Amino acid sequence: IVSIKDVKKSFGSLEVLKGVSIDIMKGEVICIIGPSGSGKSTLIRCINALNDIQGGSITVEGREVHDEELDKLELRKKVGMVFQQYNLFPHKTALQNVMMAPLKVLKEPKADVEKRARALIKKVRLEGKENSYPGELSGGQQQRVAIARSLAMRPDVMLFDEVTAALDPETVKEVLVTIKDLAAEGMTCILVTHEMGFAREVADHIYFTDKGVIVEHGAPEEFFDKASDPRTKEFLSQVL
Ligand code: ATP
Ligand code: MG
Repeated sequence: IVSIKDVKKSFGSLEVLKGVSIDIMKGEVICIIGPSGSGKSTLIRCINALNDIQGGSITVEGREVHDEELDKLELRKKVGMVFQQYNLFPHKTALQNVMMAPLKVLKEPKADVEKRARALIKKVRLEGKENSYPGELSGGQQQRVAIARSLAMRPDVMLFDEVTAALDPETVKEVLVTIKDLAAEGMTCILVTHEMGFAREVADHIYFTDKGVIVEHGAPEEFFDKASDPRTKEFLSQVL
């Protein structure tokens, strides 16, 4: 469903991605891990064309993402993204936050949108918080509203960039449970995470990046137990 081939990305003279290739099948969950500055966020942002690329190609459902002709809005409807910072609208309730994009962008009837938004809030296990404002919710709850908001656009693929990194340890788990639910339902997920236990449990495939290249990848068992590259081993020894 997503095919990343030999992608190169530079910021000025800084080469951040030096030929990265990853293939993701429909319904797969892949985790990208690696040291700070290795280009994980940059790669994720290339997938929904928030960053341009200098070489290689990225296709989503067979369409080249970096084709000038491609409607970026259409792409971003298909590819949902959740960041570390949830950026909810502070003066809108949880329900209104989830309803906004389908109303404004998809221009769907309000009754349908509201029905779906309520179902999504239930799905992220926030029933009863529909009318709460972001300021009245915990970080983990806000992040789950952000996930529901992204799902409201009915994406085919979800990108998660360190969505739990800014959360208190107690609330990390509830967000991970939400992502696990999604994965179990067959949502295609590309996750950047520092949660190794989670990666091991939910990922079909793990990619370890360092300095703009994929150093090693594999199914979780082989990756965590049989990593062979010294850089992977060193990284794992620091985080496990
Ligand atoms: P972290 O784990 O800290 O989030 P990361 O792997 O996500 O790290 P990136 O954010 O992709 O790393 O950054 C990779 C490199 O690209 C860094 O050296 C960063 O300074 C640089 N970089 C990222 N965005 C820009 C930008 N818009 N302009 C210039 N340099 C950038
Ligand atoms: Mg990052």
